[in-house]
Amino acid sequence: MALTRTDALIIQSKRFRETSLFIIYYTLNFGKINAIAKGVIGTKKSPLFHLFPSYVELFLYRKESTLSLVSSSDLLDPFPKLHQDLKKLTYSLYILQLVKATIKENEKNSSLFWLLLKSFKLLEEAEEPNLIELVLVTFQLKFLKILGYGPFLNNCVSCQEKIEKNSPSLKVSAKAGGVLCGKCSRGWVSYPLDRISSCGRDGESLSIGYPLVALMNYLLDLKLSLLPRLKVPFNLRKELIKYVNYFRAYYLPVSEKSLRFLKSIEKNA
Ligand SMILES: [Zn+2]
Repeated sequence: MALTRTDALIIQSKRFRETSLFIIYYTLNFGKINAIAKGVIGTKKSPLFHLFPSYVELFLYRKESTLSLVSSSDLLDPFPKLHQDLKKLTYSLYILQLVKATIKENEKNSSLFWLLLKSFKLLEEAEEPNLIELVLVTFQLKFLKILGYGPFLNNCVSCQEKIEKNSPSLKVSAKAGGVLCGKCSRGWVSYPLDRISSCGRDGESLSIGYPLVALMNYLLDLKLSLLPRLKVPFNLRKELIKYVNYFRAYYLPVSEKSLRFLKSIEKNA
């Protein structure tokens, strides 16, 4: 195995045998990988591997078919303000949980690496609670798009008609992958959001207004660094969160356990 270098984010680490650690990384060059850091427990280096998320420079011996072996790791950014804030940290751990549960190993995706890194930086620097929520919801939208799950919002996913400001009776369906025009949405049953099943029955859809379609579309293509300048009215922001969660739950089911703490935080926000 040859020694190789990559930028990486620590997703999770846990003890492996007596003195070693098993670490899951999301790397720039190789996507998600599992690695072993041998003999680090009890040394000065150990705490550095337990900090997740954190941004590191990683040197490792790598083989696709087996566990990689960490040679050395240097901390590039520990995101200190993110680790000092319970809400920011919980949102970050939720992002890591999504990546851990839904991304296959050894599939390089540099767009995803930069999305993760920029999202953690934005979360760390966010001063307003509204912006923290907006970062998480925008991350989820962009994550769905990177993985090819849409949502497709420019045109009706059934007949391709362009969706415009005056398009009547719009609906959105996770199963269909995006927005449906008034004509095509007639065959779909519309449910209130709180009654819709996250596993998506046939013909299930939600009514949606044009302003929310336009906002989701805008966020899908927005440069993350511009997000702090965006002002979203309270009601639209709450709707945005619910609709994006509906899409995310359909395509990326993660265990409710990982979300429970997040929900209790949102309830008290
Ligand atoms: Zn249509």
